Amino acid sequence: MNQAWLEELREFIAIPSVSADPAHVDDVRRAAEWVRDFVKRVGGEAELVRYGERDLVIGDIPANANGAGAPTILIYGHFDVQPPAPLELWETPPFELAERDGWYYARGIADDKGQLFTLLKAAELLRKENALPVNLRVACDGEEEIGGHSIVDFLRDDERGADACIIFDGGMTRPEQPEFALATRGLVAFRMKVRTGERDMHSGYYGGAALNAIHVLMQGLSAVIARDGLLPDQLRVGREPLSQVEVDSLKGLPPGWEMLDEAGATPLDPKAEHDFYDRTWAEPSLDVNGIHGGKPEFVNTTLVVAAEARFTIRLAPGQDPDTIATAAERLIRQAVPEGAEVEIERENSAPPGVFSPDSQAIQLGLEAFKRATGVRPLLVRVGGTLPIYPALAEKGIPTIGTGFALRESNVHSPNERLRVDDVDRAVAAATELYRGLAALG
Ligand SMILES: [Zn+2]
Repeated sequence: MNQAWLEELREFIAIPSVSADPAHVDDVRRAAEWVRDFVKRVGGEAELVRYGERDLVIGDIPANANGAGAPTILIYGHFDVQPPAPLELWETPPFELAERDGWYYARGIADDKGQLFTLLKAAELLRKENALPVNLRVACDGEEEIGGHSIVDFLRDDERGADACIIFDGGMTRPEQPEFALATRGLVAFRMKVRTGERDMHSGYYGGAALNAIHVLMQGLSAVIARDGLLPDQLRVGREPLSQVEVDSLKGLPPGWEMLDEAGATPLDPKAEHDFYDRTWAEPSLDVNGIHGGKPEFVNTTLVVAAEARFTIRLAPGQDPDTIATAAERLIRQAVPEGAEVEIERENSAPPGVFSPDSQAIQLGLEAFKRATGVRPLLVRVGGTLPIYPALAEKGIPTIGTGFALRESNVHSPNERLRVDDVDRAVAAATELYRGLAALG
């Protein structure tokens, strides 16, 4: 990488913009200002916009080629980072950009400051040559890592819309094979509380006659967890199976057994390895995330009267959060014994996001990436939940969600890293995307 760029990136990385830690509020703002100032330096306009609790950076970098009809491309990235703890596991300090063995190391280098930097750098390079053929609208947030929704609210309220959006905040399953994410799963989170009496009882006096809250919890949850690998049909309503292009992409990805094996996971059922991508991309899943009841740490014979659990459902593309959440509640209520006090509280939720593989933006994007990297990206889905995707989908803004992080990039872990070559590759890809999307009509 060019030495001058490296110094800029080093400066951006050095700001410890940890959104989860109140002690770093000022640093998150400094990172926002860094992005704002970069946009201004490039010849654009930008400002910090308070939306909810934190600042967004909203700006415009006008096209200087292609005339008045230039399309508007939204670019999104986040300038906050995960906390670096545990510090002792870092080989070099997390906020000092270090280079070793073909990798850059630093918190945020892959997720997402390093990648955001490449989108901005490409804009600068084209502007300098008087060759930026699209209007870029910059929309960045500093609360992605803490689940903030200001950016989603902003996009929903912004009447101007855009012709397409580019997000570099993802990665590649295989090192030399870029991917575009066409869909993300949604999420509904629940807290379930059970009470069956005023105080815990002696199981010798009451066991067999009084209701145990842990049993109620288990009966309720049993009604919604997967059997033979799949959730009950009521929770699978609306899901969109993989499209042919997505099925074709599977040939370019590691087999399911490898994905599970590498994570040290135990397959859910005999079909899970074969159906790995179907399960994580096109099926809903439910995980109990924590359960509380009784005193398992002590030898005891208590009949327990209070228990609780938290669980989340990942919604398949096509599913509606309300429909599925209501169905889950109903299944649980039908399964628990009468008389138990069962509270099911719905916490946060986010819909799935789905984009059409046939949109002109995606097609132009695929060709642009091929020109820049020599490889046509695979069209895939993401099993995780990214609320910005459904927000953009709802606005009808086709989105190229991609990136250069690798599975070995240690995202959210110590020694986060990005390959040195991929920084140049990302700048080249962004440049070609801006050029290619100029043809949007
Ligand atoms: Zn990220």
